[in-house]
Amino acid sequence: MNILMKYVILFFIIFLSAFKSAWSQSERYEVYALKFASSAHPWPISDWVDKGPTNDSVHIDFMIWLIKGNGKNILVDAGFLNDIPDAKEFAIINYTRPDSTLQKLGLKPEDITDIILSHPHWDHIDGLDLFPNAQVWMQQDDFYYYIGAAWQKGGFAGGFNKRDVRMLIDRNLAGKLTLVGGDNQEIIPGIKVFTGSRHTFNSQYVLVETGNNKVILASDNIWVYYSLEHMQPAAGGGTFDTTGYVNAMRRMKTLVTNPRYIIPGHDAKIFSKFPVIKEGVVKIK
Ligand SMILES: [Zn+2]
Repeated sequence: MNILMKYVILFFIIFLSAFKSAWSQSERYEVYALKFASSAHPWPISDWVDKGPTNDSVHIDFMIWLIKGNGKNILVDAGFLNDIPDAKEFAIINYTRPDSTLQKLGLKPEDITDIILSHPHWDHIDGLDLFPNAQVWMQQDDFYYYIGAAWQKGGFAGGFNKRDVRMLIDRNLAGKLTLVGGDNQEIIPGIKVFTGSRHTFNSQYVLVETGNNKVILASDNIWVYYSLEHMQPAAGGGTFDTTGYVNAMRRMKTLVTNPRYIIPGHDAKIFSKFPVIKEGVVKIK
């Protein structure tokens, strides 16, 4: 074999291994839903879906989502601590602290590298300090409204708790908050965030590359399956923009190959739709 031929073969081997590592970098997260609390009683669907039926009900769970892969353990939302007064109206049962729930997958709080906050309602942000190492990702416009205009005359602070506002400001002061500038942003390789539902001032949902199927963690950009199945917006107070909310669901259906992989924020059906890994933990992908 002449020397040129050797170089060609060597080059080819280097090229192949570089290609292989680039490929494995860009894909393949596992996605889990972890339940940490439930509401004691069923709710009329009309409480959650605009013009939804009053005579049919939905079971409400509280959950966080884990995206695992590429050396990262990423949470979507952080849940809440059970001493928060806002939880009272939901008659919470079966509460487990979100960090304890993660032990079911062998994860310690310090293993969480990132938290993507879909929006800053108490039931999604209040558990943030359980995960002190995590870099937090939040929509910029949602952040500024949350810490500012929401508390001014004419602002809307429903679902916001002051202790959570202070906690988020501290996370920012610690250099561990990244503000995301709007729609369709790839914030981590293989993970994109989108806006448009306006559940809060500018809430976001998450699209995850899992290899063969993409998964959307909608969080409260879809409260319950009934909204997605009937293309009806969240009930009163569930969005600043009912048309935007429906358009966002329509768009989500174009972003995944199978609508099964669009995951709402509070519907207990999630935990019977996907394979159960441990009690209250399902593997979505
Ligand atoms: Zn919620």
